[in-house]
Amino acid sequence: MNIILLGPPGAGKGTQARMLTDDFGLVQLSTGDLLRAAVAAGSEVGKKAKAVMAAGELVSDEIVIGVVADRLDEPDTKAGVIFDGFPRTAAQARALDRLLAEKGLTLDAVVAMDVDDDLLVDRVAGRFTCAACGEGYHDTHKRPVREGICDNCGATEFKRRADDNAETVRSRLTAYHADTAPLIGYYTGTGKLKTVDGMADIDEVAGAIRDVLA
Ligand code: AMP
Repeated sequence: MNIILLGPPGAGKGTQARMLTDDFGLVQLSTGDLLRAAVAAGSEVGKKAKAVMAAGELVSDEIVIGVVADRLDEPDTKAGVIFDGFPRTAAQARALDRLLAEKGLTLDAVVAMDVDDDLLVDRVAGRFTCAACGEGYHDTHKRPVREGICDNCGATEFKRRADDNAETVRSRLTAYHADTAPLIGYYTGTGKLKTVDGMADIDEVAGAIRDVLA
């Protein structure tokens, strides 16, 4: 099964993708994670992407499509992929169609996570994750049960993304509405679009996604 999770920053795509990988044995392909790893590694791609990401703008289609093509060449993706944060433009959507066709793969569903813009800045600006296991937290909505200790793995280091600040989130939302939201029309036309309410709590959203994939 190959699926796309579509939604604005803070919709919960990463959280839901991680839950789906556990349940369905799929591979999470997050272009944001791949680009952040490239920035941390100081690779050519990372050097080109760094300032664009810090500004909350979109990295060029050419770079992102290259990153995805390389990742799809790795054998674990044969188990099926959850695309998280990709595609984000019409050119990326067409490139994904082409990449999947070249590999004889099909796209099974596109799950659009519907959320209210007004809440996204607060959701994103307050979030942080465990540096060891990636468990997600939020300053006001989900603090670790024991302060400073990850509920999931007991680690004591946490991290925040450099682009999770109110100003950059607004730029990311602008980019979402200008370039990514039109993909809802593109995938509606293919008959693969399923919409879930992304405002519900995490487990309810997860249940709704399983229902639309069943
Ligand atoms: P994300 O982790 O998905 O929120 O992505 C973080 C940042 O990485 C975005 O704000 C963009 O700068 C960049 N990025 C991630 N995925 C893409 C993509 N598919 N196309 C262009 N830029 C992307």
